[in-house]
Amino acid sequence: MKLIEKMVEWGTRKSPWIIHFNAGACNGCDIEVVDAMTPRFDLERAGVIKQGSPRHADVLVCTGAVSLQIRDQLVQIYEQMPEPKFVVAVGACACSGGIFNDCYCVVGGIDEVVPVDVYVPGCAVRPEALISAVSQLLEKLEDREEREKLLAAQRAKREALEKARENGGEEHGA
Ligand code: SF4
Repeated sequence: MKLIEKMVEWGTRKSPWIIHFNAGACNGCDIEVVDAMTPRFDLERAGVIKQGSPRHADVLVCTGAVSLQIRDQLVQIYEQMPEPKFVVAVGACACSGGIFNDCYCVVGGIDEVVPVDVYVPGCAVRPEALISAVSQLLEKLEDREEREKLLAAQRAKREALEKARENGGEEHGA
């Protein structure tokens, strides 16, 4: 492994930079994400810093079921993030589409569009659950074997999603 790759790996484990994206949430989960970052829960103590640009982010924290309107933007944001990158789906809607599943304007959960590494169920998700999910992700990144497994699973999911897109699996319409 090159020195620069080692530095990136160390930085991701010790101080992941996150970007928060609402793919169609009712705002309930978003308020909890903000709560987790503010002084009461203070996720920043664990080195987690919120970023405004996907180009500087390691972790995409996504809320809401993906609406047709936002699907392409979600893919764009994901693709702009540098490797290695991770996705946390926050809330029942982000995990599976939740109460909005099968709605005419909803694609489904986040993993219908981009590969998800950690699922945080709940409606709305509590900040403690989000903190626990982030710490689980960091533990996995700490363990080299777990990290490789996570990245391999991510690659497989990404390939499956790309194949589905190529095969016109976008039956919800473009
Ligand atoms: S899980 Fe509940 S609180 Fe979160 S976006 Fe869905 S409906 Fe809103």
